[in-house]
Amino acid sequence: MNFELTEEQKAWREAVRDFSDRELATRARETDEKARFNWEAARKMGPLGLLGLNAPEEYGGAGVDAVSAAIAIEEIGRGCGSTGLAIAAHNGLCCAPLALYGTRDQKSKWLKPLATGMPASDGRPLLGALALTEPGAGSDLQGGVKTRAVLEGDSWIIDGAKMWTTNASIASIIITLCRTESNRLSLIIVPTNTPGLHIGPAEKKMGLKGSPTHAVTYDEVRVPRENLLGVEGKGLAQTLRVLDGGRISIGALAVGLAQAAFEAAIQYSHERQTFGVPIAQHQAIQWMIADAATEIEAARLMVYRAAWLKEMSQSYTVPASMAKLFATEVCERVCFNAIQVHGGYGYSAEFPVERIYRDQRLMTIGEGTSEIQRLVIARNVLGL
Ligand SMILES: Cc1cc2nc3c(=O)[nH]c(=O)nc-3n(C[C@H](O)[C@H](O)[C@H](O)COP(=O)(O)OP(=O)(O)OC[C@H]3O[C@@H](n4cnc5c(N)ncnc54)[C@H](O)[C@@H]3O)c2cc1C
Repeated sequence: MNFELTEEQKAWREAVRDFSDRELATRARETDEKARFNWEAARKMGPLGLLGLNAPEEYGGAGVDAVSAAIAIEEIGRGCGSTGLAIAAHNGLCCAPLALYGTRDQKSKWLKPLATGMPASDGRPLLGALALTEPGAGSDLQGGVKTRAVLEGDSWIIDGAKMWTTNASIASIIITLCRTESNRLSLIIVPTNTPGLHIGPAEKKMGLKGSPTHAVTYDEVRVPRENLLGVEGKGLAQTLRVLDGGRISIGALAVGLAQAAFEAAIQYSHERQTFGVPIAQHQAIQWMIADAATEIEAARLMVYRAAWLKEMSQSYTVPASMAKLFATEVCERVCFNAIQVHGGYGYSAEFPVERIYRDQRLMTIGEGTSEIQRLVIARNVLGL
């Protein structure tokens, strides 16, 4: 692995950073305060390739490598955590399984419009979601998923309830993990305008308020048999593969959030004076900044390495778990200390570190908690 980004990757980072600075960072506070998805920015993402990071070019994808996809999520997250989560979920949890497991017809029908950011009738780009979690099933999908899909003629009839579905209210489709024949799990594509599909009100969350999260219920939802994604009964294995990629994405998002808090802390440490000098001159502040610089760098390298292994078609399950675990826990520490550097002002919504601290809290939970990552890593290390 080359430790330097290629010229192409550097140019891509500059382009996404520039977009994120202009379109996301400037509205991040409003997005949080109004708990409103940033549609203005999302509209501009399709032409930039940001809605097709995991899709092949043939189906309208950006045609970027996995490291560049991670860079994009990092830079979007650096500008706005809410938008970062929504776009990471669209790309990593909806477009990715379509690209991995979709038939040619499914890719033409579902992936292409999503990856290109095709506008719906209201002019907003089509987005996607993945519903795995249920009121009684999160970490333990295999044992806990109760949503059922039964074949009736040429249709699947789906009944059940999902929780915490990112993007549900702004998505055109929700890929849904269901229990099918012989009690095994399968993924099924469910358009959100299907009768019987009910999307609950947006959850009132601690952070990431501009990323809509919803409970979804399925009441005799009927979709065509050909909406099965991949192989019937292989839904869990398919999901775990999707989550391997999703973990790189959440790791990247965590690096972006940490970077944003870190930059705010540096700026503030030069501006704020105590005892006659800028606080940047106090060793205690310098150590927090030095630790953050070091840990962010290490986290970024782990995320890029996992992405590079994915790009090389090598096994990346454990590196992705390690990268997610480390980057998200680094993010927590960096954001905690960024508030410490700000003193009382860090506790105020007037300063971005307050929002970023709330936003980052999900990172050690979503797409596999830190405990589940440690389980994956330990099983590998111990050969269990
Ligand atoms: C804002 C937000 C957005 C989300 N978006 C999505 C989405 O788009 N799609 C989706 O499907 N889900 C989504 N989720 C759900 C998320 O993936 C789950 O919350 C997460 O996987 C944890 O599941 P759980 O909440 O059921 O916790 P549980 O599985 O109940 O775990 C509770 C605690 O027990 C620990 N634990 C569980 N099992 C073990 C074990 N074997 N060993 C040690 N510790 C264990 C966990 O680490 C955790 O600390 C989202 C959640 C949030 C909050």
